[in-house]
Amino acid sequence: MMIERIPTIHEAHQLLVSKQLSSVELTEAVLARIQAVEPRVKAFVSVTEETALQQAILADKRIAKGEARPLTGIPAVMKDLLCTKGIRTTCSSKMLDNYVPPFDATVIEKLYAEGMVLVGKANMDEFGMGSSTENSAFFPTHNPWNIEYVPGGSSGGSAAAVAAGEGLYALGSDTGGSIRQPAGFCSVIGLKPTYGRVSRYGLIAFASSLDQIGPLTQDVEDAAIVLSAIAGHDSRDSTSVKLRVPDYTQSIGKDIKGMRIGVPKEYFVEGMQPEVKQAIVSALTVLEGLGAHIDFDISLPNTACALAVYYIISPSEASANLARFDGVRYGFSYTDTDSMWEALEKTRQFGFGPEVKRRIMLGTYTLSAGYYDAYYLKAQKVRTLIRNEFEEAFNKYDVLVTPTCPTVPFKIGERVDDLLSMYLTDVCTLPISIAGVPAISVPAGFAGGLPIGLQVIAKPFAEETILRVAHAYEQATDWHKQKPLL
Ligand code: GLN
Repeated sequence: MMIERIPTIHEAHQLLVSKQLSSVELTEAVLARIQAVEPRVKAFVSVTEETALQQAILADKRIAKGEARPLTGIPAVMKDLLCTKGIRTTCSSKMLDNYVPPFDATVIEKLYAEGMVLVGKANMDEFGMGSSTENSAFFPTHNPWNIEYVPGGSSGGSAAAVAAGEGLYALGSDTGGSIRQPAGFCSVIGLKPTYGRVSRYGLIAFASSLDQIGPLTQDVEDAAIVLSAIAGHDSRDSTSVKLRVPDYTQSIGKDIKGMRIGVPKEYFVEGMQPEVKQAIVSALTVLEGLGAHIDFDISLPNTACALAVYYIISPSEASANLARFDGVRYGFSYTDTDSMWEALEKTRQFGFGPEVKRRIMLGTYTLSAGYYDAYYLKAQKVRTLIRNEFEEAFNKYDVLVTPTCPTVPFKIGERVDDLLSMYLTDVCTLPISIAGVPAISVPAGFAGGLPIGLQVIAKPFAEETILRVAHAYEQATDWHKQKPLL
C-alpha cells in the first residue's frame, strides 16, 4: 500500500489488522519521511533504523497470529532521557554522550510488550532544562511549521517529530510544561498525566517531585491509547500509585453537556499575544456550543507565585539529582589529570552546559544551611497553597481551561540571552506541575502560520475527563488535521 500521509495510531491499527498495510511498510514509510525532512527539522539524536525494521518484522508476525494490540507495529519516538537498553541515551548532554543504558525504563518495557517499533531518540533541552530545545548540547530542533522558529521544549524533538510525521507518536517528559508547551508550539496533542500515574523508573531525573512522562500524539484518541499502555503502578517507582488503570479510550466520543468549565483569569497574563487570547475565547465558544457551562469569574490568586516556586524547587532537586554525574560511575569522564578533585571538577565543567550549571548553582544555594528555610521551605509552603487552590477550584468545576502558552513560537535565537522571557513561556503550565494535577494541550488555531495550544486541566487522576473534553473540542474543530507543509 502507498502511504500518502503518516496515519494516526488508530488508523494505522485498522490498516494493520485488516492486512492492508504491514508494519514493515509503515516503518519504511516513517524512515523515508525521517530521511526526507530530518535535515531541516533535526528532531532526532539517534535514528534506530536497523532495530526498527527487525521490530517491525516481529510485529507483523504477531499481527498475523491475530495477537495485535493497539500499539503493535506502530513506529514511535522516545525522548532521549528515557533509558533504552543497548541504545545510546544522552539527555542531549555531553555528560551522557556515550551512555548506553543496560536496562529499559518501565515505559519502554511496557511499550515493547505492546509491540512498539522504536524509530529513534528525540532531541531535547539538556536534562529537560529549557523551553525551546536550544539548550541541547548537540543542535537545536526546528519547528516543522516554520523552521526558523523553535519547537518549544524541553520535549521539542518529540513534538517536532510527531508534527513532521517522523513517528506516529512520541513520549516526552514534563517537569514544568515540557510536554504541553512543545505540543502547543507544534500543533500536536501533549498530555501530562497526574504525578504518580506513570512510572518514572528509567527516566533520567531532573526534578523528581515534578517529573512525569506522557504522550505526544496526532489526535486525542491516540493520546488515550498511549496513556492506557504506559500508566500504572510500578514497584520500582515508589511514587507511582496503586490505582486501577482505566481504558482511557472509553472516554473518547462522550459528550460534554452540562460540564462545568472554569477559566481562571490569572492565565490571561500581561503581555499575552492578542491572537492567542482570541483563539482561546473562540475555543470556549465552541465548548459552550457543545453544552458546557463556562464560568469566567474564577480567580486562582497564587498562580503568580508558581514561577518563583518552580525556580526554587526544581533547581534544588536538580542539584541533588545531578550530583551523581562525577565522571567515576558512568558518562563523560575527564581523565587528563592525576588529581581526583580536578577530574571531578573538569568532568562537571566540560560535561554540563551553561543552563544546567546555572540550575545546579541555584539549587545548591537554595538548599544550603542558612538559606534552606528562607527559600526551599518557603517554596514548599507556597506549593501547598497552590495545590489547595486547585483542589478548591475542582470542587466547583470539572475542568479548567487556559492557553498553553501566552504566545506562539518565537524565532530560534530570539530568547537565548533573555532568560526571564524564556522562563515566562511556561507561566501557564508551571502551576499545574506544582499542583501535580493532569493537563493536556490541544491544537486551537494559528497566528501568522504558527500554532496555538489550548490547555485543559482536571483534578488528580481525572485524565478521563481531560480526554473527554479535549476530544469533544477536537472533533468540533479541525486544527489537528492541518499538517505542516515542510
Ligand atoms: N521549561 C521549564 C524549565 O526550563 C520546564 C522544563 C520541563 O518541563 N522539563 O525548567
